[in-house]
Amino acid sequence: MNGEVAFQGFSMSVYCYLIDGVLIDTGAQSLHKYFEAFINAANFDQVLITHHHEDHTGCAAYIGKIKKVPIYINEKSIDVCANKANYPFYRKVFWGSRKPFEAKPTPTIFHSRNATWDVIDTPGHAFDHQSFLNRNTGQLFTGDLFVQVHTKLILADESINTIINSLEKVLTFDFDEVICQHAGFVKDGRNALKQKLDYLNSVRQEVISLNQEGFGAKEICQKLFPKQYPIIKLSGGDWDSLHIVNSILKENNLPVNY
Ligand SMILES: [Zn+2]
Repeated sequence: MNGEVAFQGFSMSVYCYLIDGVLIDTGAQSLHKYFEAFINAANFDQVLITHHHEDHTGCAAYIGKIKKVPIYINEKSIDVCANKANYPFYRKVFWGSRKPFEAKPTPTIFHSRNATWDVIDTPGHAFDHQSFLNRNTGQLFTGDLFVQVHTKLILADESINTIINSLEKVLTFDFDEVICQHAGFVKDGRNALKQKLDYLNSVRQEVISLNQEGFGAKEICQKLFPKQYPIIKLSGGDWDSLHIVNSILKENNLPVNY
């Protein structure tokens, strides 16, 4: 199930996956009208959600209403999801307002009709982010852990160090295929995750070196990420390359501004 949201020249695909009676993520509320027929017709026993962001949880309330199936999310974000959407206005315009829904805590291992799955904690993009590995098929569903190799923008509360640790962690598991909620099926998935890990490690190293040479966060940002993406302005700075630099400086106990 795939939908695309476009706004002022910025667009993004959102995928949900139905596999072996498991629905992984529920899309955005703003895509509800496109996803509704699929959800109605789909045959699934349970819903597993990778993290609480509104483009993954947007149709969960609808599913909870029309299907008598359990919805699972990291126990850390059950409360967030039980309450009204609380995120910036531009995200409500783009993804819609996620309605409150009831969820159960995702166990560390779960079973589908023909397979056993590992639930792997992979925080960094979001505090509650988890990836799901189908042990029988070797397919890894990575939510927003991957999205792309060369990340140039992150949200203010993302952590580069934590994302690096999460990538290292999933790479210790046995999987072949990577399936992403925004990029779809990732060709040569294991290698793509390794490339992302190498890229983030090299960005971290460059930020630290430039800081040691005396450059401040904004100057480092201009050197490493010179492009001004429209989403930076559109989101009022919620998305910014500067957050990558600040996250690295802060987490390595280096001065952010001087
Ligand atoms: Zn997300």
